Amino acid sequence: MACPIIFVPQFYLMQIQPNVHFDDTEVAFSYKSDKELRKANFIFSIVNHPAISSVATGLAKLGLVLHLPVKGLIKATVFEHFCGGEDIAQSERTIQTLNRFHVGTILDFSAEGAHTEEGFDRTTEEILKTLDKAKDNPAIPFTVFKSTGLVSIDLLTRVQSKEPLTADEQEAFQHFQDRVGKICAKAHAYDVPVMIDAEDSWIQNPIDELAYEMMKKYNQQRAIVFNTYQMYRRDMLDNLRNAFHMAAMHNYYLGAKMVRGAYMEKEAERAEKMGYANPIHPSKPATDDSFNKGLVFCIDNKQRVSLMCGSHNEYSNQYLALLMDKHSMKPNDPRVWFAQLLGMSDNISFNLAKAGYNVAKYVPYGPVELVMPYLIRRAAENTSVAGQSSRELTMIRKELARRKNGK
Ligand SMILES: Cc1cc2nc3c(=O)[nH]c(=O)nc-3n(C[C@H](O)[C@H](O)[C@H](O)COP(=O)(O)OP(=O)(O)OC[C@H]3O[C@@H](n4cnc5c(N)ncnc54)[C@H](O)[C@@H]3O)c2cc1C
Repeated sequence: MACPIIFVPQFYLMQIQPNVHFDDTEVAFSYKSDKELRKANFIFSIVNHPAISSVATGLAKLGLVLHLPVKGLIKATVFEHFCGGEDIAQSERTIQTLNRFHVGTILDFSAEGAHTEEGFDRTTEEILKTLDKAKDNPAIPFTVFKSTGLVSIDLLTRVQSKEPLTADEQEAFQHFQDRVGKICAKAHAYDVPVMIDAEDSWIQNPIDELAYEMMKKYNQQRAIVFNTYQMYRRDMLDNLRNAFHMAAMHNYYLGAKMVRGAYMEKEAERAEKMGYANPIHPSKPATDDSFNKGLVFCIDNKQRVSLMCGSHNEYSNQYLALLMDKHSMKPNDPRVWFAQLLGMSDNISFNLAKAGYNVAKYVPYGPVELVMPYLIRRAAENTSVAGQSSRELTMIRKELARRKNGK
């Protein structure tokens, strides 16, 4: 029977005391030495300023293109903060450090730019290596991949728009399906859950279809394959409900990674250019509401749904913890996980982990040059829009002050 809290309007829930708090910076940064924290302060101070951030990222890109000796500098600063290393072996230190604080690692091969069949095969092999690393390894509770590392965006776009495919394209699409099939089969054989990231709305349908095919095959005993739900999309609550009904109809478990969505600007631009309605909710509160309703839906249907909440939003994380409590779920109930990105929202990750919740961090890795687009996105995300310090910077400075005064 569903807990009545899910029918309570959100404004009322806002007044309920959360059962987990994220303002303890000592817990948040306990895994960082003073030196590492000072470095984090330096990095976030740079990215906080729009002008400095844009000059620095521009110079870094240029330096790499011209083969100037900037790699060492990038590696020792932003790369080290946001990434595990250039390969799985180099990420070991991060894996162990997070694990000491009961935070799991999700190895995320973040090299972007594979465009050929050989490149897609190499990416597939790398994802398979993350599964080998995760096998029987409690420090790595999940794995992940992006479909656009395994197939071209153009082809996915053509498949979604139902354009007739040439024989070569049909073969390439079959290769993509085979690659995903191989990854999910191995995930199932190793009993390691695998999440499929969500991408642009105009390529998402074939990814979804394949994800459900894989769930039907491999989610018979528990959720091994997770699809991702971008709750900034206006159709996404319905998609989530439909996915659940499909799982119920075919008697498998639904693995749901819930995120707000990362490609809002691209979505709006394309919709305007091509003259269709923007698929994204019209406002941030509308996205927030959709996200929180999605959490309610998953917890309400926890008998069949396993949830990974991928968010840096404090309210949503507290709301989920509260929902679990109202449903008498233990914090470490294996059906619910919380995840953030390495180098961000440590206050959420480490405080949740300390309170006993299941937490993991995406740990991106890959050659510095190929991870640059990922790093640039992180820099943009942490750039101040109104001249204020970003939340990360505020937290880091609070902890630096605490350590200075406390010692
Ligand atoms: C572990 C993890 C995995 C992730 N995986 C994916 C993935 O597979 N695919 C993907 O797309 N993203 C993914 N993301 C990124 C995610 O979608 C968000 O972009 C990011 O986490 C910021 O949202 P938030 O919930 O943390 O919080 P917030 O900072 O509270 O929300 C910011 C988000 O709100 C939405 N938003 C902001 N302004 C508006 C507006 N005016 N109108 C409507 N909506 C608005 C946007 O989605 C924006 O990103 C992942 C994030 C994490 C932490």
